Amino acid sequence: MNRPFLRAASAAVVASASVPLLAGCGGEATADGAKTSPSADRPSPVAGAFTVTHVGGPTAILEIAGARILLDPTFDQPKRYESGLEKTQAPAFGPDRLGRIDAVLLSHDQHDDNLDDTGRELLKDVPVVLSTPGAHQRLGDHVTAMTSWSSKELRTSGGVIKVTAVPALHGPDGVDRGADGEVTGFVLSGEGVPTTYISGDNASVKVARQVGERVRKEFGPLDTAILFAGAARTPAILDNAPLTLTSENAAVVAKDLDPRKVVPLHTDSWNIYSEDLESLVEAFQKQGIAEKLVDLRPRGTEKDLS
Ligand SMILES: [Zn+2]
Repeated sequence: MNRPFLRAASAAVVASASVPLLAGCGGEATADGAKTSPSADRPSPVAGAFTVTHVGGPTAILEIAGARILLDPTFDQPKRYESGLEKTQAPAFGPDRLGRIDAVLLSHDQHDDNLDDTGRELLKDVPVVLSTPGAHQRLGDHVTAMTSWSSKELRTSGGVIKVTAVPALHGPDGVDRGADGEVTGFVLSGEGVPTTYISGDNASVKVARQVGERVRKEFGPLDTAILFAGAARTPAILDNAPLTLTSENAAVVAKDLDPRKVVPLHTDSWNIYSEDLESLVEAFQKQGIAEKLVDLRPRGTEKDLS
């Protein structure tokens, strides 16, 4: 496919042709991570802009340390899918207004609300796509498979972003959904990079807490948490059990992990989300942490996270 807006990405992201865009961190992140300075020792201010633009559902553009990163691309118009899922709202804008994208962080590929038809098409033109081993198998070599706590380095014009895959549980604690539940979260870190947790489709407070504890040890205090909430439910899976964070649990996670800011995604545009942004705001108010929530409205507008 010929998409000039995406073709520009490779030139913009690589500082020098001799520098590979993506470098492995040697498997397990522990050894590497231990060397990373705690956030208090990091240079300030943060390198470049730190913003988020919500497109709809789980889809957002994160501008961080010189990179433009797209989360879970969904750009279809409202429609019903064979899976039974239904998209209920149009994206804030189409791929034609996406601008340069350096990398896609794809929490999983097997559910329409995290990767729809248009989103799937545009992956081909993005230089780096990081996702699960299952996504790599299904989508091909263009997608880099990441296992939990493995890391890749994303070299940008602003420096290096270390992307670490972190566990996520797409359903209740103790339940193994097999391949259908395979999903990953991500943590971004590095010199001048605000440490950022992207939960992916995770329903478990326990898993988020474990991620938070390890992140604190390895990378220092969490700056920003991007939480996929909305309590996705469908009668077809585990009798309507929540498959992503409920509003209440998102607030519990936010209180526990204590990031400076929380970006709420995955609460709109799809019929399987049973809890909306309003209930999320209420839950954060009950926990006394509403001020952490970033108001992404209206969708399609860039919000400052710095
Ligand atoms: Zn999913």
